[in-house]
Amino acid sequence: MVKYKTIIIGSGIAGSTLAYELNKRNGEYLILTDKKNPLCNTTSLSYGHFRVPDKNFKEGCLNVGIRYEKINQIESNKEMVVDFLDELDLEYKEKSFGLIVNSKNKNVRGGLVLLSRIQKDLEIETKNLVHSFKETQKGITLYTSNGIYDCENLVLAIGGMGGSFSRTNNVRYSSYGLHKNYEIYQRNNGSLFYHPFGINQGRDILIGSDVSNGEFINSENKPIFSGKFRNEIKNDDYHENFQDILDVINNLYSYGEKVFFSDSNSKIEIFPTVHYTNGGFDTNLESKIKGFNNIYSIGECEVDGNLRNGRLPGYALTKSVINAKLLGYKL
Ligand SMILES: Cc1cc2nc3c(=O)[nH]c(=O)nc-3n(C[C@H](O)[C@H](O)[C@H](O)COP(=O)(O)OP(=O)(O)OC[C@H]3O[C@@H](n4cnc5c(N)ncnc54)[C@H](O)[C@@H]3O)c2cc1C
Repeated sequence: MVKYKTIIIGSGIAGSTLAYELNKRNGEYLILTDKKNPLCNTTSLSYGHFRVPDKNFKEGCLNVGIRYEKINQIESNKEMVVDFLDELDLEYKEKSFGLIVNSKNKNVRGGLVLLSRIQKDLEIETKNLVHSFKETQKGITLYTSNGIYDCENLVLAIGGMGGSFSRTNNVRYSSYGLHKNYEIYQRNNGSLFYHPFGINQGRDILIGSDVSNGEFINSENKPIFSGKFRNEIKNDDYHENFQDILDVINNLYSYGEKVFFSDSNSKIEIFPTVHYTNGGFDTNLESKIKGFNNIYSIGECEVDGNLRNGRLPGYALTKSVINAKLLGYKL
């Protein structure tokens, strides 16, 4: 049986960035995904919006409960994101709370543009679902749909649990085995990041540019937002107030009201939706999962905050890139 130095499970932004880093250093590794296409994941659905540079980065993260020692590490390595986008020769522009990767095609999101570029020279094993693994003194053994694999270091970059909720636009995995069954201590799994403007029963969302030219209204066609929130929504600058906006909508639903978005073309019903998850595997500053010697976790599957919305928009991609790169230097 082949023994790999490092196996990375998952080819989203976290796993692919780590593989990209190891590839540059001629590291010995294998990266695999359960999907037929390595671009099929939540990262490719994302808008490629990174929360850097942002003068309130640290304070904002601490406000939503992201741990102090972790956020210090991300904050002090923020420039890695810009360097990475430049190294990948990607175009990006500044938006309200950070940088967003440009897409020339309006049907292709920034996340897909970004991930395609990262994966350009990577060999990724596809259609290989990992069911379980165990760590012993001799190393780590993985049990997958393609057989048994051995490695010295295992990196879980398996994404969040968003896909396990019916009202979500995250990619749905055929198995949540690694999240649900493996006996790794997980924290804050009940902490979910809701997007206020879910549509299609929560399976998609309206983003800033979609909503700036319309109005959120109730069943009687009366605007539900006024003053500050209304202006922020019109200016595509409401992201720091997600939770308060969400509270307004949830409050209306709790009274049996319905909420719609209306513009010159259509009127559609809004359903706040799970956008991504804040809980997951508990790691130390090196991204090592607590209680294990050589098992690591990066990306959305690693635990973040647990207060209110638990995570700032744009933080998921920023921390995935930085933690993957820092781990790449080590492995
Ligand atoms: C619509 C949408 C827009 C978003 N926009 C932004 C944004 O602009 N900015 C931002 O910061 N965040 C955004 N997010 C959140 C962000 O996209 C995710 O948090 C991030 O992409 C997760 O990356 P990841 O690498 O951790 O996981 P994923 O991209 O989910 O990748 C997980 C990988 O693991 C594989 N996998 C899982 N289980 C197994 C298994 N058992 N065996 C083998 N392979 C497995 C999957 O196939 C996949 O390849 C958005 C989310 C959504 C849903």
